[in-house]
Amino acid sequence: MTGNQGDSVPACDRVPRPTQVVGHRPASSAPPPGSTERAARLDCDKLDDQLKVIRQREHPDLKIGPHCDDPYTCPLHDHCWAFLPEQSVLDLYHGTKKGFGLLDQGVILLKDIPDNTKLTENQAIQRQVAVTGQPHIRKVRLREAIGRQGSIVAFNAKFEKGRLRECCEVLPNFAPWLAHIKGRFVDLLEPFRSFDYYHPKQAGSASMKAVLPALTGRGYEHLAIQEGNTASLEFLRVTFTEVPKVERQRVRRQLEEYCGHDTEGMIWIFNALRKL
Ligand code: SF4
Repeated sequence: MTGNQGDSVPACDRVPRPTQVVGHRPASSAPPPGSTERAARLDCDKLDDQLKVIRQREHPDLKIGPHCDDPYTCPLHDHCWAFLPEQSVLDLYHGTKKGFGLLDQGVILLKDIPDNTKLTENQAIQRQVAVTGQPHIRKVRLREAIGRQGSIVAFNAKFEKGRLRECCEVLPNFAPWLAHIKGRFVDLLEPFRSFDYYHPKQAGSASMKAVLPALTGRGYEHLAIQEGNTASLEFLRVTFTEVPKVERQRVRRQLEEYCGHDTEGMIWIFNALRKL
């Protein structure tokens, strides 16, 4: 393809039909009757569209939309979406369609969403936070989420309680609450650290990264972020340094996937132990 807008590119009806192509096809892969003609028609339609685009002097002025991530994320995503500022309407929680609708109306920022726009309760909180610049915190609800009884399961509870203590140094109002709940922690690390259970695949480690695959067959290989150090560094990088918004969003999604896997992993470990 030379970029010449003349007739150097063959029109679709001049491209050989697949039935005319010989060789390279194993006999066993012969297509079912009629399918080659259908495929040829489909390919021609696509090819004509592609040729029209290729012959244009300017790239098509396409808008971003759900097609950018469906059926997979477009490689040009970061480029095309770079114009979006922080706190844009595409951040609306469970609001992709609504967000693109607002963009079509010229509303880009969450804080500019018109009052008469129908929003869910969570989306309304997002707009309010964007307007005030202050976080929305339901402290009572947060405390109630832990409840007043029942176990709080952690893998390496000593470590988790240490981080909570550090949080209370910054937010001392929560110190009495932590003192009240810390006796309820149950440490899922204990049976592995004490070798009440040991699998050869743990390779001398009682960490969750070793225990989870050994006990349940579920690992971390499919995740973009696979262990805690990377998670911490990535969190710091996208939170406290200048990175494009789309990258920050992508890393936050990856962090949520990693944390979700670690949390659900404790349930899988617990259920596997119960079956022993
Ligand atoms: S990200 Fe890809 S699909 Fe979306 S507008 Fe850009 S080029 Fe098109």
